Amino acid sequence: MYRTHTCGELRAHHDSQSVILAGWVHRRRDHGPLIFVDLRDRYGLTQVVFDAANDASVHAIASEARSEFVLQVTGNVRKRPAEAINPELGTGEIELVATAVSVLNPAKQTPLMINRDGNEEEPLRLKYRYLDLRRERMQRNLILRHRFVKFIRDFLDKENFIEIETPILTKSTPEGARDYLVPSRVHDGEFFALPQSPQQMKQLLMVAGYDRYFQIARCFRDEDLRADRQPEFTQLDMEMAFVEMEDVLDVVERLFTAMVPAVIPHKRTISPFMRLTYAEALERFGSDKPDLRYGLELIKLNDIVANSAFTVLSSAVASGGQVKGICVPSIANYSRKQIDEITDIARQNGAKGLMWAAVPADGGELRSSFAKQVSTDEMQAILAAMNAQPGDMVLIVADTTKVVTAVLDKLRREFANRLNLADPNLMAFAWVIDFPLLEWDAEDNRWNAAHHPFTAPLDSDVALMDTDPGNVRAKAYDLVLNGYEVASGSVRIHRREVQQKLFDLLGISRETSLAQFGHMLEAFEFGAPPHAGIAPGIDRIAMILADEATIREVVAFPKTQQAQDLMMGAPSPVDEKQLRDLHIKLR
Ligand code: ASP
Repeated sequence: MYRTHTCGELRAHHDSQSVILAGWVHRRRDHGPLIFVDLRDRYGLTQVVFDAANDASVHAIASEARSEFVLQVTGNVRKRPAEAINPELGTGEIELVATAVSVLNPAKQTPLMINRDGNEEEPLRLKYRYLDLRRERMQRNLILRHRFVKFIRDFLDKENFIEIETPILTKSTPEGARDYLVPSRVHDGEFFALPQSPQQMKQLLMVAGYDRYFQIARCFRDEDLRADRQPEFTQLDMEMAFVEMEDVLDVVERLFTAMVPAVIPHKRTISPFMRLTYAEALERFGSDKPDLRYGLELIKLNDIVANSAFTVLSSAVASGGQVKGICVPSIANYSRKQIDEITDIARQNGAKGLMWAAVPADGGELRSSFAKQVSTDEMQAILAAMNAQPGDMVLIVADTTKVVTAVLDKLRREFANRLNLADPNLMAFAWVIDFPLLEWDAEDNRWNAAHHPFTAPLDSDVALMDTDPGNVRAKAYDLVLNGYEVASGSVRIHRREVQQKLFDLLGISRETSLAQFGHMLEAFEFGAPPHAGIAPGIDRIAMILADEATIREVVAFPKTQQAQDLMMGAPSPVDEKQLRDLHIKLR
């Protein structure tokens, strides 16, 4: 038996028992005849005392041990004297007096210090990930992720969902990204694709009659990883038959509302989840994934400034654009330099400039970049519309709707950050609904599916598909959380003729649609029930639960931003024989 207890287990009531522990040397304090070793495993730390007066040979082995040696220690549990109790440590009431020790394996000096959260460059952490994963923070994150996923499985099981695995070697699914391809050895010149998501399989499972499906599913997308993404990531993939949008939102809302207190009790959600249409989200927050933990809402000033003598304002309105602003508390005393800095942020996001007006906290005179260009009444009307109080500064952008929205979204996030407005323990889940069905692709001069091509249009908008495709809204919904999109889903098309019509709109020829999606079109002719689904991102939600800034911190073995595995050294060249078997000749 390697151990009788874990390193996190022993308490005062174990006093005088003889036990065996095994673990890593976390810290070692050498006081000559007395050596203290904190022995660590994933359950905790136990202080072990090696006393030369008890046994010189045992003490001699301990004096050779170094950080991260793997030891097996036999000893007697001893209650610590009151003044030596460590309340920070689970095992802080006791120590283990060693009577025997063996070195199960020595360790070279590790390139990372395990007993502290160093500030190494990430590549070093990723190269030695197995050492990085020994650290408390990473163990906490992976255990949290486990409990999160376990909660999901238990919850959905009770709700009659069945977990079904779908293939990794499959056929390309159009989720908008590039596929990872796998050459077939058996079929010369043919390829599998790794699934961008199990979208088609889960819909086919609905046709097959499994009316509540889920899977903790790995998805693969060969995207440029500029944002915080991974080439492979994990979704809670779900699909339900004989449901409307409301049924899907209901299950997911109940799932996450119950998950938060169970998995991370110091965080809270807001019930019910707020609901915004896509149009409303952009209008009020400048984003389709707004962070709702704070206000700083965008205020539209078009009506007030439409006839302004200051043409920067009036011409933006006249040309179909917008004049909008946010009112930021407690920055009225910003210096010119600080204002220049935020003006630069606005410029970097496409604005020609930023107008501002500061209401001094002490009742002094208004400072503003544009007070001379507008009448006093107009300025008062603007400040009133924005509810500017003493100490506040209003920031205003006049431009196309697109620019105004992008700039104010950026500034809103920037000031939430600077002023610490977002409560880290609030999980502000919200639904965004009524997304557009299609997006115009100006480069290729054609429509793209905004979500994916299996998404149903709103019943009220079906007629628009022929006349005004850009304004067709979809039965598509996103779940947003603290400024991130954490799930997307939709009610699906389940009738062949509607699916065909959408393929036509997307410019997918009859031939191509048959070759690529013939199985879907055919399945819809064998009794396909109405169905809908969603896919919350496990990595992203785990990241937010763990208060981490990147998803790499909640993935055991992540890739770098350059899509490499630095530990395994992947991707890597393969030998000529392997290539020949796969009928591949490198260009
Ligand atoms: N397959 C979709 C996605 O990965 C989710 C869904 O529509 O259920 O975003």
